[in-house]
Amino acid sequence: MPRPKSTPPLPPPPRKPRRDELKPGESLCDHCTGKCCRYFSTPLETPTGWDDYDAIRWYLAHGRTMVYVHEETWYLLVSSDCQYLLPDHRCAIYHDRPKICREYTTKDCEYDDDWSFDKVFEAPEQVWEYAAALLPPRRKPPAPRKPELLPIVTIP
Ligand code: SF4
Ligand code: SF4
Repeated sequence: MPRPKSTPPLPPPPRKPRRDELKPGESLCDHCTGKCCRYFSTPLETPTGWDDYDAIRWYLAHGRTMVYVHEETWYLLVSSDCQYLLPDHRCAIYHDRPKICREYTTKDCEYDDDWSFDKVFEAPEQVWEYAAALLPPRRKPPAPRKPELLPIVTIP
C-alpha cells in the first residue's frame, strides 16, 4: 500500500491590521470581509410578559438569529448576506446603496471582533429560562373548585 503523500502545512492566514496600523489612504474596509453587510438588526419593544418572550423564542427558533440588549434597548439580529455583496467583499451598488449603508462608518463598526452586549440570547431555551426567573409561573394551576353545597331545604 503506497504511503500517503505528506502535504505541507498551510500557511497561517494573513493577519488583518489593527486600526492604528492603517497606512495613509487605506480604509479598514480594504481588510474586512464585509462584516457589516452580512446581517441586519432592528430594535424590539422591551419584553415585559410571557407573550413578549414567546415572540423572542419564536425569532430564535428560526436559526441564524440572535437577540441582544445594548444600552437597555433590545435588538433582533438576523445573519444574512446582502444580495449586493460581491465575492471580493465589495458592494455591487456602492453608488446607489441604501441610506443606512451610506450613513454607516468604520468609526464604531465591527471590524475589531470585540462586540460586547449587556445580554445575548442565541437559543429559545435561554429566553424561557430568563423569563421564568423574572416572571410569575407561565401557567397558573387551576383554582381549587369550591365544594358543591347541598341546597337548603326548608321544612314547613
Ligand atoms: S464598515 Fe467596518 S465592518 Fe463594514 S466593511 Fe468596513 S470595516 Fe468591515
Ligand atoms: S447594499 Fe452594499 S453596502 Fe449595503 S449592505 Fe448591501 S453590500 Fe453592503
